[in-house]
Amino acid sequence: MSLKDRLKTEIRAGGPMPISRFMNACLHDPAEGYYSTRPRLGEDGDFITAPLISQMFGELLGAWVVETWRGLGRPNRVLLVEAGPGDGTLISDALRAGRLDPGFLAAAELWLVETSAPLIKAQRERLANAPLTPTWAAVLADLPDDAPIILIANEFLDCLPVRQFVRTADGVAERGVGLNEAGELSFGLTPLPGEQLPKDAPIGAVIEVSTAQLDFAADLAARIVYQGGAGLLIDYGRDSAGAGDTLQALRQHRKVDPLADPGGADLTVHADFPGVLRAARAWGAATAILDQGEFLRRLGIAQRADALSRAKPDRAEIIARQLARLIDADQMGSLFKAACLYVPSMPPPPGFENDQ
Ligand code: SAH
Repeated sequence: MSLKDRLKTEIRAGGPMPISRFMNACLHDPAEGYYSTRPRLGEDGDFITAPLISQMFGELLGAWVVETWRGLGRPNRVLLVEAGPGDGTLISDALRAGRLDPGFLAAAELWLVETSAPLIKAQRERLANAPLTPTWAAVLADLPDDAPIILIANEFLDCLPVRQFVRTADGVAERGVGLNEAGELSFGLTPLPGEQLPKDAPIGAVIEVSTAQLDFAADLAARIVYQGGAGLLIDYGRDSAGAGDTLQALRQHRKVDPLADPGGADLTVHADFPGVLRAARAWGAATAILDQGEFLRRLGIAQRADALSRAKPDRAEIIARQLARLIDADQMGSLFKAACLYVPSMPPPPGFENDQ
């Protein structure tokens, strides 16, 4: 039976399902989930990410990792972790930059947090000749807890499921996926008497709550505080609290109806940075957040672009376009944010020196 039909059967038996359950099924169902069966990243695929736009992104993050390790006092063992490594481009570009410091490479153990079998295969191939050999873990909880950790994640939070709540004239309802009169999947509201929402939420506004994002931030922060270390989470999302339905499905770079073909498109939501940073601080981590454009400029992306263009003058125009895509405010520069969590005993990691 198709995933869509199985979801309908589940709804007929158990009533409308939360958006979080729907997202998990669409992304990770073993037979038809988007990431379990057909992730297509890149210009020819369904969506493009910063490391696939330009090698500069991964290289700068590699330099960030090495500098952060120095800020931690150059521990002789450190876990270098990437969550949601996609096709492995980011980490392989980062390791090329990390190669510059043999002391770091000698100290680092590479861990990749990934659940998608096709992407694990792509990562293994991409890293075949890399200076570090990865070990895979399905969840953060499977990582060792006896060494400092430096974690990077780009467009990972946005895959973690959300629940959506709406304040109605009669109280609070959960927005979920049910069936309409024709028996097709449709969005609807189920009253939820127990839930509390911000009192100032306007009637009809959708409030998203991602327990999965908040739990990830809390787990990461607890490790950073107890093991030492830092995390860099880059994603698109809001940097102040706000209402709105951010669930979207992307196929071949176009927005499509999220209910039309479960498993056939990438589904994402905005990262809830205010919630993520609050959860991290509750565990004792220091936090900071910047627009992606500002963060990359502070890491020296303009100088890196100049150097690349001088080395390959025939590519100068392409490099300038890639640079603009990553940092311009009307492209990825301000919709995307770079959030940093770090142990308060270390100096703020590169880029975040003045933004605690
Ligand atoms: N970071 C990459 C890929 C982003 S796509 C890039 O910037 O190009 C999202 C990645 O997160 C994919 O690798 C996907 O398989 C992984 N992912 C999604 N949900 C996950 C989960 N719950 N646990 C672990 N990995 C997950």
